[in-house]
Amino acid sequence: MSKRFKLSSEDWLIEEKGFHPHKQGVYETLFTLGNGYLGVRGSLEENPHGSYRGVYIAGVFDKSEGMVPEIVKAPGWIDLSVWVGDQKFAVNMCKVLSHKRILDMKKGVLHRITRLKDKKGRIIRLETRRVVFAHQVRGAVIDFDVTPENFSGEIKVISALNGDVTNTGYYPRERIKHLNLVKMERGHDHIYLEVETRDEKVKIGMAASLVFNNPVLGHVKVNRIYGEKFSEEVVFDATKKKTYCFTKWVTTFASREGYERQLKSSAVDMLHDMIYDGLDYHLDKHLLWRCKEWDISDVKIKGDRRSQKGLRFNIYHLIVAKPHHDQTVSLAAKFLTGEGYKGHAFWDTEIFMLPFYVFTFPEDARNLLMYRYYTLKGALENAKDLGYKGAKYAWESAGTGRETTPSFGYRPDGTKDKIFTGEEEHHIVSDVIYGLYKYVEASGDTDFLYNYGAEMVFQTARFWLSRVEKRRDRYEIRKTIGPDEFHEHVDNNAFTNYLALWNLSYAEMLYKKMKKEVPSQLNLLAKKLHLKKDEVDRMKLVSKILYFPYDQKTELIEQFEGYFSLDNVVVTELNKHGLPEWPKGIEGSTVHRTQLLKQADVVLLLYLFLDRFSAKLKKLNYDYYEPRTMHKSSLSPCIYAIMGLEVGDHKKAYNYFLKTSYIDLVDANKNTEDGIHGAAMGGAWMTAIHGFAGMKVKQGTLCFEPWLPKRWKELDFTIFWKGNLMRIRITHNRVDLKLVEGKDKSVPVNVYGKTVKVKHGSFTTLKAKKKY
Ligand code: BGC
Repeated sequence: MSKRFKLSSEDWLIEEKGFHPHKQGVYETLFTLGNGYLGVRGSLEENPHGSYRGVYIAGVFDKSEGMVPEIVKAPGWIDLSVWVGDQKFAVNMCKVLSHKRILDMKKGVLHRITRLKDKKGRIIRLETRRVVFAHQVRGAVIDFDVTPENFSGEIKVISALNGDVTNTGYYPRERIKHLNLVKMERGHDHIYLEVETRDEKVKIGMAASLVFNNPVLGHVKVNRIYGEKFSEEVVFDATKKKTYCFTKWVTTFASREGYERQLKSSAVDMLHDMIYDGLDYHLDKHLLWRCKEWDISDVKIKGDRRSQKGLRFNIYHLIVAKPHHDQTVSLAAKFLTGEGYKGHAFWDTEIFMLPFYVFTFPEDARNLLMYRYYTLKGALENAKDLGYKGAKYAWESAGTGRETTPSFGYRPDGTKDKIFTGEEEHHIVSDVIYGLYKYVEASGDTDFLYNYGAEMVFQTARFWLSRVEKRRDRYEIRKTIGPDEFHEHVDNNAFTNYLALWNLSYAEMLYKKMKKEVPSQLNLLAKKLHLKKDEVDRMKLVSKILYFPYDQKTELIEQFEGYFSLDNVVVTELNKHGLPEWPKGIEGSTVHRTQLLKQADVVLLLYLFLDRFSAKLKKLNYDYYEPRTMHKSSLSPCIYAIMGLEVGDHKKAYNYFLKTSYIDLVDANKNTEDGIHGAAMGGAWMTAIHGFAGMKVKQGTLCFEPWLPKRWKELDFTIFWKGNLMRIRITHNRVDLKLVEGKDKSVPVNVYGKTVKVKHGSFTTLKAKKKY
């Protein structure tokens, strides 16, 4: 075994002890490996019953018999088994003497060690190490060892590319077939499998080679076809206690990336190159890549190992989901870890995930926004379908930006449930623009803003102009759904209206700014969009008189018109994960009559526009909405953590942080097997940095007002700010800052209300006014 596989220290490891068949799905999600191009669930190599294995390729969607286009399960290559005669040595067919798997988050390697005993008493020890390469996104490897512990005899290893894969259908619970087999071809040292999606005709080509690293004289290697599974099989005479080592190399290409003609040669050539360069060469490159990513994005928490591990797990998934190779794909709500939400992107990306990338991998943040630029055409068509102008980003977005929200779902009893979010949850339009604005604010990337962003800003503002309705002396947005999806078809949802009015005024400001700074570029764009000055003036006017439901006397923002007249129910009991239980007599179908909300709505608005609301208003509204929030979405606890810190509710903030960062590690929502809660991953980072470290942007200046939980002795992290990489170290009584690299000699930063110039070299230290 290569010494590069040596395990990292305990704080970097997530362990599964023993084999628990009913928990397979959860561990498969937690142990997903990836690189933004590929997501590979951590299923066991022998594919036991109950496994929900899956390999997904970013951007490959297909509908076929699905309700809407969905991410396609690609052919599986985690397909490896060890046989003695007709006995398969698998966890579900032998006695499991011991079994453990360890995800090394730092290295991005999944380890497995299992000892199995069959009915005849023969014991085999299996060890595998799996890597989806970061430096070469189309390459992956399983390195494995087989040891017959107490017998000698013939052993067969079967390694396959399995085209017999289907997506999970929800209703009817039939499997959805997206792929047709195109070809299987063998070379002298490899196999090649090609499939094609049924509707979209996207081709996927995979090549694999099973290399026997310490071959036994006389071993035999053959290829076999089992249905749509193409295998390489090695049979050899094994000697008791001797370890036999193999490496399975795999490459994956898809025609959507421009490899239509050379699909096979690309996959096979790369496979040969990788084998030629060798495992150590590629591990070095992979580890270096991961190491650089962690150097920038790791957040070190001293004094609290639970928080440290939880946060690292969240950052791990944010890193491996990051599509650094492609500007035409986004991040799905479940990343590429499962089929929940069908691989669609939601507002989760811009509001909950993007902040992490903006401050750690700004180029990747730009890529994610470029996806919204490339899907603008789909957004224009969505608006047209609904009878509006401009661009309406899809509530659920897949390959083209067309709306892909299913129009109905099914309740557990089989009855139909209409889904209105695709037609009514319109705040997504401005959420995208808010993400864009925050990226430009932190990066200073006006090139992106003027060349791509501006078109998105104007087209979305145009959407709102056509979406608002005039009533008396004000504009309104009627029949909508805010972030709280318990209440549908509401009028004037405060969150939606505020984001819309902000979107409109941003468009007007940007128009003015471009007129001053890049007039000819503005002219060209205005011509392309048929955008006239009087339309921009209307944007300004509507932004000023768009209704915002707010009671001046109580300073409470009403979540939507009529909300305060609903039954005033509050949460009284929490479950074992500290999350609210349904109050007595209330459940999914009756909750809309009450003031209970699914997730942060008004409080999220306050968080997004921190500077615009007074401290008193924030506290009053937090206190009002917090006991009414059911946190039935994983997007919710992180926002209450950050806003709790803002208004002085420190104790709850820490609990909310743990809930967010452990949501999947403890399977708190009982659906981790469907995929990771990507927004919660981003939310955990936001809580650490925007919450505990108190990092905020106020009037264009970066500010820190930290508050650390008692047991956190130190918080240490780096961030990019306007092209400069900065290191920040925070303890209970001081903040240290320094520039690590970047274009500026010094950067102004405000700490505890005092502005200092942060420079290269030694740390600038600021002492807290009082120890807390
Ligand atoms: C939430 C949405 C979220 C979606 C995907 C839903 O349950 O209410 O806000 O975008 O899940 O994560």
